Amino acid sequence: HKALITGVTSYIGAHIAQQLLQQGWYVRGTVRSQTKAQWLHDTFKAGSRFETVEVKDIQRKESFADSVKGVDYVFHVASPFFMNPKDPYEDLVHPAINGTNSLLSAVDEHGTSVRRVVITSSFAAMMQPHPENPDYVYTESDWNDAAFEQVKQLGKDVPGIIAYLASKNEAERAAWRFMDEKKPNFELSVINPVYVFGPAIHHVAKAEELNTSVAMIYVYLSGAKERLAPRGILSNFVDVRDVAEAHIKAATLPGAAGQRYILSAGVFSDLLIASAIKKTCPKYADKLPKEGWDLKETTRHEPDNTKSRNELGITYIPLEKSVADTVESIAQFIQ
Ligand code: NDP
Repeated sequence: HKALITGVTSYIGAHIAQQLLQQGWYVRGTVRSQTKAQWLHDTFKAGSRFETVEVKDIQRKESFADSVKGVDYVFHVASPFFMNPKDPYEDLVHPAINGTNSLLSAVDEHGTSVRRVVITSSFAAMMQPHPENPDYVYTESDWNDAAFEQVKQLGKDVPGIIAYLASKNEAERAAWRFMDEKKPNFELSVINPVYVFGPAIHHVAKAEELNTSVAMIYVYLSGAKERLAPRGILSNFVDVRDVAEAHIKAATLPGAAGQRYILSAGVFSDLLIASAIKKTCPKYADKLPKEGWDLKETTRHEPDNTKSRNELGITYIPLEKSVADTVESIAQFIQ
């Protein structure tokens, strides 16, 4: 098999590439940075089975015209994931939607050998708040259309997190719309992970450049968090290795065509993460926040992961291992 991964230099993209290479696939990845690309070549040492091509602007379909040729599967991972945009449209919403449309158009026009495209959407595209029902359980039939309404109302004043949620919801909506309207010769499958933890294997030059979800673990060790806070709703995690496995299963299992899959291993909270670090990485215990260890926890698990377990066969890595392996992978940044 031969795959194209957009954004192969990302936290998640690098793991998809690594697992595919371990399974004997040929992998082509699109990159913006040669430094990040070289890091992956040095890490994978896969010779001619791993190649990278530069795609600077994912918003133009011509950018992908050559890279989609000759592959059987495409994993569309590239999309901005940060929560402090200067402009919600330019920085988040447009690259997400236009990136998805341009990739799908390029596959339709030039990727004649592509059987299936797997898109890395997010639980962000499902998690519309249900304040009336705190026990609401999210499934694959949920959408978060409210987020983009808020972007339209508030414009540049919209909270960054809402702009991110909207970017993922609208990009996934655009993908399914493309399939409905164009009826192309390839199939689509979508992965919707909650917050992703686990080892970072991609290139990170300094702590400030850690990807958003790994940075959420780093704050327990950087001194940025002084006090453990109570668990918020929708604090769920999945390990990046399970995310990569799910992408590959979604590409290759016949029944996954036309489906979207929530990925969630369970709950996290400040207390659960800090306790996991204390137990598994005791040498960092003195770095942890000092206050808030007497919190009472709520352990509601909002997303339903049944479909991913039954149809993709995912056996989820537990929080303690995921946190321990994250910390080990970013040890060079812990002062
Ligand atoms: P990263 O920040 O590591 O990855 C983002 C990727 O998108 C990078 O490859 C980046 O390129 C690329 N990218 C971002 N903006 C642009 C742009 N404007 N033009 C071209 N490329 C761009 O984070 P993740 O690996 O976590 O994110 C990968 C995907 O997973 C995203 O689609 C994200 O929404 C999704 N996701 C992540 C979750 C998480 O908790 N980590 C949860 C749910 C979904 P470069 O490498 O050059 O910076």
